[in-house]
Amino acid sequence: MREAGLLVIGAGPAGLSAAQYGARAGLAVVVLEAAIQPGGQVLTIETLENYPGWLGGKSGRELAEAMHRQALDFGAVFLPNSAETLTIRDAAGSSRRFCALLDDGTEILAKAVILALGASPRKLGIPGEEELAGAGVSYCATCDGPFFKNKKVFVVGGGDAACDNARGLSRIAAQVALVHRRGALRAQKMLADRVISTPGVSLYLNTVLRHIHGNGHVQWITMENTLTRVRTEEAADAVFIYAGLVPRNGITQKPELVEKPALDGGGFVVTGQDMATTVPGIFCAGDLRATMFRQVVVAAGEGAVAAHSAAAYIDSL
Ligand code: NAP
Repeated sequence: MREAGLLVIGAGPAGLSAAQYGARAGLAVVVLEAAIQPGGQVLTIETLENYPGWLGGKSGRELAEAMHRQALDFGAVFLPNSAETLTIRDAAGSSRRFCALLDDGTEILAKAVILALGASPRKLGIPGEEELAGAGVSYCATCDGPFFKNKKVFVVGGGDAACDNARGLSRIAAQVALVHRRGALRAQKMLADRVISTPGVSLYLNTVLRHIHGNGHVQWITMENTLTRVRTEEAADAVFIYAGLVPRNGITQKPELVEKPALDGGGFVVTGQDMATTVPGIFCAGDLRATMFRQVVVAAGEGAVAAHSAAAYIDSL
């Protein structure tokens, strides 16, 4: 059994910021991150150009490394583990504690918990997607784009991520086709305008992917126009899917957690402005939180607020 003041689950920008603020406020902070490297989705951003003060087109990876170093310098302890379950001990009164059971069997007892688990890419659920994942089907252009130099790639989605990554891929691939199911892109105007005017990027609106084909690697796709229902086939070397995010809320739904934080209709955790969930002592920040604008800077800000609120909660015990 290990004791912590504040347990932060997840080390993307929200968790890293919470760790730094919590440790700097004097809390004994333990951060769980099962991935090889802290940073979460920010690690996949090739050029992070809209984080305030982050000048010169540096990568998301560099920001994650700097945030991690800063949290370590303030005394946060990182464990390379995931939490399997969360339980509540002494539910009422000043000795109320949370116990996280880790994947290696360790138990961590904490006065407050910040959920910063983020979200995962949504799958399309079409034939070929699962079979060809890692063989041309990808959810991360920064990771896999370089394998498709001078090739023909498709990007699915109409949001910020699809537009950002279609533009990034245009610098590597010979042809990039952006496929979106509606008649207009939903991305921020600047990102949408930019991708539309990028040479080498073509746009298929009102179009969905029906099938990804290939023998061992992606070779062609079947698309369908949603207005005419006409299906067409096109040669393709890769398909990059940016169809939104699915919240990593699993730990909040397990039976071991008898008081469950409220979720919105999409499964994201509902909080107040102080990042407090509906369960006293459990806070949430970043992409897992129900919010309208998921940005690195927002996640970092929410992490700071969550740590501040958690410290106030612990003081009140
Ligand atoms: P998003 O904004 O939720 O967009 C998802 C896109 O995928 C939508 O266009 C959606 O279509 C489409 N889609 C969803 N399910 C689909 C399906 N089954 N088949 C085909 N298309 C489907 O998600 P995102 O672009 O991944 O962005 C997630 C968050 O990260 C957002 O808050 C975004 O602002 C942020 N982000 C920001 C930046 C930046 O600022 N540079 C970059 C990347 C991400 P509909 O339009 O029809 O719903």
